[in-house]
Amino acid sequence: MPKREFKVPRKGRGRPDFSEETYDIKKGKVYNEFWPQEDERWKVFLFSWPPTAKLKGGASVHLLDIETFLSVPYTTPAGWFARFAEWMGSFDKKTMLTVLMDDNPPFLLLYPVQGDTHEYEKISFFDSRYFDPNAEEPHTWDFIITNTDTEDAIGCAQTALIMQRVGTPEMKEKKVRCPKCGFDNIVPIEQNKITCVNCGYIFVVPYYGRRVI
Ligand SMILES: [Zn+2]
Repeated sequence: MPKREFKVPRKGRGRPDFSEETYDIKKGKVYNEFWPQEDERWKVFLFSWPPTAKLKGGASVHLLDIETFLSVPYTTPAGWFARFAEWMGSFDKKTMLTVLMDDNPPFLLLYPVQGDTHEYEKISFFDSRYFDPNAEEPHTWDFIITNTDTEDAIGCAQTALIMQRVGTPEMKEKKVRCPKCGFDNIVPIEQNKITCVNCGYIFVVPYYGRRVI
């Protein structure tokens, strides 16, 4: 594994404490653990009914990568650790989230009916470093919402991964799917406003990585 270079002097064991340098953390708006560190970035996946039609009774849907509008499964590349960090959901019918990492057994997480679940957590099983400590392999993540009721449901669901860079070059570009014509545009990774090169449609996507400011 390449040697990692930190800008802040190390004191004791573990990772350097960036809290004295980070304005947002001083304001107390973001938990330190959930603000991307310099070598980290988030991936956020979600779906919402509406604006799409209701989720039909018995139906399953893969969440969307909201930075690109591509459907999961999402593959975290070699050179990055990835851990499941957050899941939320709010539905008017019985639903469940299926979490899959590679070919491991699926986890079925049940949402309460007419309730709201929002968990920031690390489920130890879903951390690629315990399977691949040198981050030598890509890993596949899938998030599937299933309406286990017989009636159609409204609601929303979101999951998040935190990826930590181990030694590979920074990702510079991303593939973003045009919501109007379906064309896959290649754009710089931090770009929010996208103009589809195929149809000219202009739309906006979020970016959850750390910006250089
Ligand atoms: Zn387009």
